[in-house]
Amino acid sequence: MPPAEWVPGILEHAFVSTVMDIQKTADTVIIGGGIVGCAAAYYLAARGVRVLLLERGAIAAEASGANLGAVGASAGVPGATLAHTKKSLELLAHDADELGRPVEFVRAGLLLLACSDAERTDVQEFAATRRQEGIETHLLSAEELRNMEPGLGPGLVEGAYVPGDGHINPFLLTYAYAAAARRRGAEIREGIEVLRCDVAGGRVAGVVTSAGRVDTRRVIVAAGAWSSPLLAPIGVEIPVRPGRGQMLVTEALPALTPRVLRTPAINLRQDARGHVLIGSSVEYAGYSREVTLPTLARFAQLAGELMPALRDARIIRTWAGLRPMTPDGLAIIDTVPGVDGLILATGHSRTGLSYAPVTAWLLEQLITGGQTALPLEPFRLGRFAAPRGDQPVPAGRERTEEMP
Ligand SMILES: Cc1cc2nc3c(=O)[nH]c(=O)nc-3n(C[C@H](O)[C@H](O)[C@H](O)COP(=O)(O)OP(=O)(O)OC[C@H]3O[C@@H](n4cnc5c(N)ncnc54)[C@H](O)[C@@H]3O)c2cc1C
Repeated sequence: MPPAEWVPGILEHAFVSTVMDIQKTADTVIIGGGIVGCAAAYYLAARGVRVLLLERGAIAAEASGANLGAVGASAGVPGATLAHTKKSLELLAHDADELGRPVEFVRAGLLLLACSDAERTDVQEFAATRRQEGIETHLLSAEELRNMEPGLGPGLVEGAYVPGDGHINPFLLTYAYAAAARRRGAEIREGIEVLRCDVAGGRVAGVVTSAGRVDTRRVIVAAGAWSSPLLAPIGVEIPVRPGRGQMLVTEALPALTPRVLRTPAINLRQDARGHVLIGSSVEYAGYSREVTLPTLARFAQLAGELMPALRDARIIRTWAGLRPMTPDGLAIIDTVPGVDGLILATGHSRTGLSYAPVTAWLLEQLITGGQTALPLEPFRLGRFAAPRGDQPVPAGRERTEEMP
């Protein structure tokens, strides 16, 4: 990244972080400066909505800056949300050109790889369901895979290739949405925490923040893994809990692959500077962002088996981020019965980057017109109303699971 791209961003960041006074009213307050909140600010500001986004830390400092950066139409749920992820990718491709900053969007495809007959069945089903919904997907034999990716190790039996999917720098993308939203008139404030929402007479009246009160009749909760504790004091229960994901990144290496490589155990991609990002677990360990050696050592071993050139690569950094997990892995994008003006845009689980543009697009329609061009049904809060076996484990009984 040339310094000219970075310097204005850093100065802008320092400026907003040190000014502590706050406007007293806003049309719409967005809580949270991750990818969901920043994309929403950008879309709403374009429609003339006077947006105030409040982020208690820094933009993209939580899950949105900690993720792998895989984006794609194939991330949707067959029969429910593939239309949404297709739309989201289309919006992302458009936004990447419009935002006015480089976001390192590489649309070279996703390879879902199978190493056993059982995994082959999953890969074939993945390909069939994506094709049914019009997403170009090819099944590749082991030989075809090695022709496409000469760096792959032995042991692969088949793969599904989705050429339209890709990867992006999630940190740059979130910052680009925030900067472009500001240019459209949104007020984006870092270092200001929303302490509570103020509800009176069955509707939102304002938010109380660490810098004072803001009167508003509309609040969008995009507070990621922290959304549940923020809403509990006003009696709104949502099944969103933190799901820790650990990642590691290698030193810069010669070009290995332009694609996202996915197995049932790991995902990896190489960034614009040659670093290979490898992850990631999903662990229910409360709000801990600790990294653990056994998990990272396993990722390193699996990555070396997948791509032998990675065996000798040095790991230069490890980290963990907290995903806002829901029981079914889909976001909650909805109004809240009994609290007029409260809108949820949270729970994006493992695919928040893939869904962020369509989330912002749906919010814009919900707020400015009431009707949405794609159904909100898969994202309604009401789907969790009936008791289900996969509801969150009660506090104090956190368990740890690991999956890719
Ligand atoms: C290791 C890992 C790998 C991942 N890989 C991918 C991937 O490849 N592709 C993909 O699509 N998704 C991926 N994800 C998931 C994706 O990162 C998330 O779904 C997405 O970032 C969620 O965005 P968000 O804006 O809702 O949450 P966040 O980015 O967590 O943002 C929420 C923000 O709200 C702020 N906040 C909270 N409470 C308050 C308050 N009271 N007042 C003010 N601000 C508040 C927080 O400080 C935070 O900045 C991954 C996640 C992880 C952790």
